[in-house]
Amino acid sequence: MSSVTDYEELATTAGRELEEATPQEILQWAADHFGKRFCVTSSMEDAVVAHLASSVLPGVDVVFLDTGYHFAETIGTRDAVAATMPVNVITLTPKLTVAEQDAQYGPHLHDRDPDLCCSLRKVEPLNRGLGAYDAWATGLRRDESPSRANTPVVAWDPKRRKVKLAPIARWTQEDVDAYVQANGVLLNPLLWEGYTSIGCSPLSCTAKPGEGESGRAGRWAGSGKTECGIHL
Ligand code: SF4
Repeated sequence: MSSVTDYEELATTAGRELEEATPQEILQWAADHFGKRFCVTSSMEDAVVAHLASSVLPGVDVVFLDTGYHFAETIGTRDAVAATMPVNVITLTPKLTVAEQDAQYGPHLHDRDPDLCCSLRKVEPLNRGLGAYDAWATGLRRDESPSRANTPVVAWDPKRRKVKLAPIARWTQEDVDAYVQANGVLLNPLLWEGYTSIGCSPLSCTAKPGEGESGRAGRWAGSGKTECGIHL
């Protein structure tokens, strides 16, 4: 099976049939159907999905977007994942360096037009990088934010014309914490400093949430923006 129509049907059916499945079962389904044409994307906030995927598909490609604006701790987490886990870390970069973007669009584009900055530094590189795959998995969870509350475990990604998986969509933060503890999964050290969602380092893009705020409240806080565009 290889045509786009077949994959669309396959994804829609799997979304229904795997709704109650465990993350490992969902990832095994992906490994069985797509093999090396399947990858996991990771922001390197943690290595949970990479760990789950490597348990069913050792050597799985783990795709990381290096926007040029990451915290040093995030780059360190990527390097630790590459050094210690049975995965193949692939780093994607934007067409423009930060200096080239500053020259072309002016400095601090993230403060003035974060949608354009994310489009240049995240969405375009990911779309380009996913060309090598028929299916990709993310770490999206339904409990993260209202905009993610209906995330299917498997779905057709019409923009990229690929199968998109969210194997831990049904997990809660408690489920993630339990898995991390039971398996010694690598975490970004910024999680111990009060960050609950880790993206690019400019304060306008990633801040610590206030008392009682949701985990993603510190992302583009006060701007009305809630997603980088990859998952829209
Ligand atoms: S998160 Fe911020 S710095 Fe990173 S790509 Fe988006 S706007 Fe640019």
